[in-house]
Amino acid sequence: MLHKFRIVLVNTSHPGNIGGAARAMKTMGLSRLVLVQPEIFPSEIADARASGATDLLQSAQVVNSLDEALVGCQLVLGTSARERHIPWPLLEPRAAAERCGACTQQGGEVALVFGREHAGLTNEELQRCHIHIHIPSDPNFASLNLAAAVQVLAYELRLVALSAEKDSVAPVHTPDPDTQPVTADELEQFYQHLEQTLIDIRFLDPERPRHLMARLRRLYGRADIERLEMNILRGILTETRKIARQSIT
Ligand code: SAH
Repeated sequence: MLHKFRIVLVNTSHPGNIGGAARAMKTMGLSRLVLVQPEIFPSEIADARASGATDLLQSAQVVNSLDEALVGCQLVLGTSARERHIPWPLLEPRAAAERCGACTQQGGEVALVFGREHAGLTNEELQRCHIHIHIPSDPNFASLNLAAAVQVLAYELRLVALSAEKDSVAPVHTPDPDTQPVTADELEQFYQHLEQTLIDIRFLDPERPRHLMARLRRLYGRADIERLEMNILRGILTETRKIARQSIT
């Protein structure tokens, strides 16, 4: 199960934290590290802080965007030290890890996303996530060191994986592709299709978008959309756009 989890670090500025995160992961049996535009990487400082987990740094995937980091994931969780403007489904680490375990048992892949040391994740990045995770720290001093936050989550994932190993008596059956949850990249394409359609039918004014797309992302994100359902939604949008275009011309 543990190889289905990826840890995504966005725009990390201190290479020492990348090394620290690699070490935290390796102690808990995690191996997939994805770095979105790290400021300094590779680095001797990262290697030193990884102390023995340099293999994770060598195999780390370095990408240019969060979208690239999330390709193929059915479940994306974003970590945040503070509350944001539009409240999102929010879980504590233990409950979040259980969700992650359930997703991988259905054959899915999961990403846990961590933000910048100075500013965390942007609202836009957090809206790419199905669920937010807050480590219930002291509200007067809420922000953990990045690698420490990775350690807390990696530990909870390990506990879930160990207990799944103990209970694994059920035969593994091939999942039905129609009922598989869609991946983050498929969901992203859907949101773009939806946004375009809402502009076409003049429900969304691109000059004054307000928080419409954020609210719709939250709504659809809650629905655990399966592949067949996604095809239906995309079909509805395609037909809607056709008719909208006809009525304009
Ligand atoms: N100053 C930033 C804190 C960033 S800490 C802010 O106000 O958002 C760097 C990263 O560590 C965060 O983006 C998050 O991924 C993780 N992190 C730190 N404290 C956390 C907490 N209490 N709960 C969840 N994630 C946390």
